[in-house]
Amino acid sequence: MTRNEELFLRAQKTIPGGVNSPVRAFRSVGGAPRFFTRGEGARVWDADGKAYIDYVGSWGPLILGHADADTVRAVQQTAAKGLSFGAPTEGEIELAELLVQRVPSMDMVRLVSSGTEATMSAIRLARGFTGRDAIVKFEGCYHGHGDSLLVKAGSGLLTFGNPSSAGVPADLAQHTLVLDYNDAQGLRDAFAKHGKTIACVIVEPVAGNMNLIVPKPEFLAAMRELCTQHGAVLIFDEVMTGFRVGPASAQGLYGITPDLSTFGKVVGGGMPLGAFGGRRDIMEKIAPLGPVYQAGTLSGNPLSVAAGLVTLKKIAAPGFYEALAAKTKALVDGLAGAARQRGVKFSAQSVGGMFGMYFAATPPTSCAEVMASDKDAFNRYFHAMLDAGFYFAPSAFEAGFVSAAHSDADIAATVAAADAIFAAG
Ligand SMILES: *Cc1c(COP(=O)(O)O)cnc(C)c1O
Repeated sequence: MTRNEELFLRAQKTIPGGVNSPVRAFRSVGGAPRFFTRGEGARVWDADGKAYIDYVGSWGPLILGHADADTVRAVQQTAAKGLSFGAPTEGEIELAELLVQRVPSMDMVRLVSSGTEATMSAIRLARGFTGRDAIVKFEGCYHGHGDSLLVKAGSGLLTFGNPSSAGVPADLAQHTLVLDYNDAQGLRDAFAKHGKTIACVIVEPVAGNMNLIVPKPEFLAAMRELCTQHGAVLIFDEVMTGFRVGPASAQGLYGITPDLSTFGKVVGGGMPLGAFGGRRDIMEKIAPLGPVYQAGTLSGNPLSVAAGLVTLKKIAAPGFYEALAAKTKALVDGLAGAARQRGVKFSAQSVGGMFGMYFAATPPTSCAEVMASDKDAFNRYFHAMLDAGFYFAPSAFEAGFVSAAHSDADIAATVAAADAIFAAG
């Protein structure tokens, strides 16, 4: 038995499924998850001492790579002065100022401790602001594990959803309308029918939790127009795309101005931090200014804020995103080129520093198309790459991430390994 396997057996005795977040358990690809002991730059080491080039990056936060020296130093120096006060600190103002400066749609922002908290709070705020209950989400988009958001589509386009998790009251789920991603007409129909009751539309402006799906420009544009027309709040969930796809996030990339935005992952630089912000008139509805309650003992935690500040400053370096996007594109072009040469049905694409790989002839544009890709082929590829020392997300339905620490040689080695695997069939 490997050390990883031993640890996994031991973990399962006290932790449900052996993991503290389900997709880590390798359920969809099979085998024992790797327990990591160390990370540095683009690399991680598991409990058996095996090294991997990492394309998960803690599921997105680690845009500077593992154990970035400046980030680690800032956290250590901050920790030495106290871990938490439950009282305001100057760093929080600095981070809020940086966020509203980088993301022009935000006049005000509040810090929380996770992406889930940010989206839950943004939804409550949208409901409180509009006095309406219904929310619109898109099938396959993940917005954290808040009750109203754990809902998948029923059969028809305009069906109100059923919960996709036990423990979510049907009474609550019935307020969530689930539509197809990239379907502007479906959205128009939903507003025509339910426009007066819709508090908000929440969307991943580049979908990254059903593998990666690029938004059609008319889809995002229709969303903006319909929300304005019907007095609904448009929420861009940029927990994954925030500062990952460009310096002003996906809203900057596509030129759409949401009313509220949510952040997590990159903004915390690897520490637990989330944020939600937007229009002043909406944000002023939050306690203590307004009637919408939201709070957190560890919100704006000094260590998380310190890591976020360093990260946001470093990614503002000239050329940072050009280099990151070029490297990510080199990876997907290399993989797709190798697959084409070897006659493997595979495609890949990237947006900034995130990418998708599909065992399908062309990149999917909807959840249904993602579901139709060859999952068994992905699982074989995943394990072959893992054995070869390349760590990708253990699911065919997740996006991948490249960091500034990945070198051209890392990318070339990854493409060469994939080529060998494609050649072997
Ligand atoms: C990761 C993610 C979340 C949830 O964030 P957590 O920090 O895991 O709670 C919400 N929305 C999107 C788009 C995400 O990718």
